[in-house]
Amino acid sequence: MPGFELFGDLERKEVNDVLDNGVLMRYGFDGMRKGHWKAKELEAELSDTFNTNHVQLVSSGTAAVSVALASAGVGAGDEVIMPTFTFVASFEAILMLGAIPVLVDIDDTLTLDPEAVEAAITVKTKAVMIVQMCGSMGDLNALQAICSKHNLLFVEDACQAIGGTYEGKPLGSIGDLGCFSFDFVKTITCGEGGAVITNNEAFYQNADHYSDHGHDHVGNDRGAETHPFLGYNFRISELNAAVGLAQVRRLPEFIAIQKKNYTILREAIARIPGVTFRRVPKGGEESYAFLNFFLPDLEVARSVSEAFKTNGVDTCFHYYDNNWHYIRKWDHLKEQKSLYPLSKAIKTALTELQNKRFPQSDHFIGRNISCLVKLSWTEAEVRERAFKMASLIKAAI
Ligand SMILES: *Cc1c(COP(=O)(O)O)cnc(C)c1O
Repeated sequence: MPGFELFGDLERKEVNDVLDNGVLMRYGFDGMRKGHWKAKELEAELSDTFNTNHVQLVSSGTAAVSVALASAGVGAGDEVIMPTFTFVASFEAILMLGAIPVLVDIDDTLTLDPEAVEAAITVKTKAVMIVQMCGSMGDLNALQAICSKHNLLFVEDACQAIGGTYEGKPLGSIGDLGCFSFDFVKTITCGEGGAVITNNEAFYQNADHYSDHGHDHVGNDRGAETHPFLGYNFRISELNAAVGLAQVRRLPEFIAIQKKNYTILREAIARIPGVTFRRVPKGGEESYAFLNFFLPDLEVARSVSEAFKTNGVDTCFHYYDNNWHYIRKWDHLKEQKSLYPLSKAIKTALTELQNKRFPQSDHFIGRNISCLVKLSWTEAEVRERAFKMASLIKAAI
């Protein structure tokens, strides 16, 4: 998945444009910038890539989720439904707004189970946030139907799924708002950066102002701008945007390499009895950023994960025992280890979470191995890896 593997002359050229005029900021300084508007250009490219009217670049993927939710009016005391399997950024972004993360089970798509979502809806629910983990997606039509029926916002965290599609539409462009990360390990990178995409003009205007202190961005005198509402600073810098501009133009090339490598790995293990793959909903195509497969039980998954590690098959994760991505190890969240006081509503929700069990999520994450697909492998390296993976899995089953 990582775009950082293929950093080269194209990226260097875009960064040098910015260094040549010295305008490192995305707004203002019109006279000095010699026509270089890297953040604006990247927004235009992304709007094309995602076939979406509006794109707001921000400083990170986590910021993108916060800005997306804030732009649609989610705040104190509102409940946001999210999956048990995701990156810690999901609940961070929700908590930052004073909203309440409500964690629900995943299914064999490795993200939100529509039935679990529907069962978790209360009068306080404001949004459902799907996280398109590891390059694929959930049952988007079913989830969208639930959101329409209950009048809820549908937000996509597509940070790990750039390049994937559902019924021909880019992941991230299907919900009311989509969020992307361009941090250093994502499919395309800005170093640090993120984006909110939407077809909703009002949400976009809100995101544009909110991510820059509430400035209205009217005219070309920043000092004279008014503040229609409160904001924060989640700006991306021109330097970061410049790197992303070169990278986004290479996205089709990156996806093609991922697909080729993914296919070799998948074919090598597909016929091993006991190996099954994560379900990709009908009409969906993965971004091939990861190969995800299930083993018969937790013990086999643990021994395969261990065997991969000791035999040099790196970049494969058994998320059940991993600290970053699965609820089981999020003690800091469950124990409310916050530097500052949390609201009573949030404390109550997190205290309930301490004793909550998610056997259905355990059933899938316990048996899942997720292998990141790199861009820099040679074909010989991928074939050797595929062969090793197959023999280690056969030995463990
Ligand atoms: C990487 C990631 C984020 C956060 O992105 P940052 O740019 O690192 O803040 C959010 N959600 C998911 C699913 C991610 O993988």
